[in-house]
Amino acid sequence: DKFDLHEQYLNNQMVRVLKTIGYDRHYQSARGQYLYDQNGVEYLDLLSGFGVFAIGRNHPTVVAALTETLNLELPNLVQLDVSLLSGLLAKELLKTTPDNLTKMFFCNSGTEAVEAAIKFARYTTKREKILYCEHAYHGLTMGALSLNGEHVFREGFGPLLPSCSAVPFNDLAVLENALSTRDIAAFIVEPIQGKGVNLPSDDYLPEVQRLCKQYGTLFVADEVQTGLGRTGKFWAVEHWNVQPDMICMAKALSGGFVPVGGVAMTDKIMDTVYNRMDRAVVHGSTFSKNNMAMAAGLATLHVLREEKLVENSATLGNQIIAELNALAPQYEFLKEARGKGMMIAIEFHAPKSLTLKAAWTMLETANKGLFCQMITIPLFKEHHILTQVAGHGMNVVKLLPPLNLTDKDRQHIVTSFDKTIADTHK
Ligand code: PMP
Repeated sequence: DKFDLHEQYLNNQMVRVLKTIGYDRHYQSARGQYLYDQNGVEYLDLLSGFGVFAIGRNHPTVVAALTETLNLELPNLVQLDVSLLSGLLAKELLKTTPDNLTKMFFCNSGTEAVEAAIKFARYTTKREKILYCEHAYHGLTMGALSLNGEHVFREGFGPLLPSCSAVPFNDLAVLENALSTRDIAAFIVEPIQGKGVNLPSDDYLPEVQRLCKQYGTLFVADEVQTGLGRTGKFWAVEHWNVQPDMICMAKALSGGFVPVGGVAMTDKIMDTVYNRMDRAVVHGSTFSKNNMAMAAGLATLHVLREEKLVENSATLGNQIIAELNALAPQYEFLKEARGKGMMIAIEFHAPKSLTLKAAWTMLETANKGLFCQMITIPLFKEHHILTQVAGHGMNVVKLLPPLNLTDKDRQHIVTSFDKTIADTHK
């Protein structure tokens, strides 16, 4: 393993990430929360394609729905026609979203959902400026990248969209100051920031909603990662009982089979943007509302409901967080486990004791995130658990498991973390 660490020190970031998740293995099959390699060895996947496989991989219900849809030979992508399946999926989704959201727009990814939200907000408010949060992630195309709160992603690609600026996450005073100019089209925010699983304080999103309303700014919740049960509620905004003007969604929506994205919005936004007599095409793209994505979406919503996966995300996820957090007092390196439902971060920090602190500083100077890799690599190699190093300071191990984890998986996760951290502590 010394060799591994040496290699990682030399290699670039992407190779390190690939190595962490086992690029030297060939995964040959996958089912639910498990992957199987060429020797039939089972791996517990706590990344689930960065949150795509909320219902687990290759779910038979979605496979059946997709097969049936193909066999039906439905008309697909008849431009300017409203497809049956997109109508049904819109209807099902809008039953889950806050009551003020009554219209759906479909696209092909989370990034596209964000791009659409920017255009809709500018057109509806006739304002230019967009506010986003430091450390936010909304995608990497030019519009979404302009709302990316990490310098590392933006560097070298400028000039980006004008009139976009960042405010600190969870800081209401700075937000109010920015909004008070009354010329901001939208404030876009992840209810829980994906980068390091940063949770807002309980008054944050309710106040965001109030302030946005007060200053005529649209409140856009980017639930691409937090949506569809990930945090133990169907939508993360439900934790704070807020009603954004738009919700961006994607990732888990089609069960991992077909690219899909969407924006749920108010009547007013849809009507302002689309009820235009002067042009036929306002915003859209060729493959949006394609039958396979819509059928997969309908089947995925069915599975989430039937298998009570949102409930499982809440109970089992919160139990995992509590049990991992309970390990913190034993280990100087372990700061805390936090999150909601099955969106979980385990944060590490430099310990107070001088020798351990020196070791930490050495590792982190050599390579940011190296300490966390000393956790993720043995977790993978010895316990066959896939996790990810994440966070602004690369100081968290992040878990976005399939929501169908079992109690046995929970025990395996907690004991494996305990053992791995204990070994690192020696
Ligand atoms: N918004 C958020 C909050 C995300 O987490 C992501 C993906 N990590 C995106 C947008 C971009 O989505 P996609 O990769 O589907 O384009």
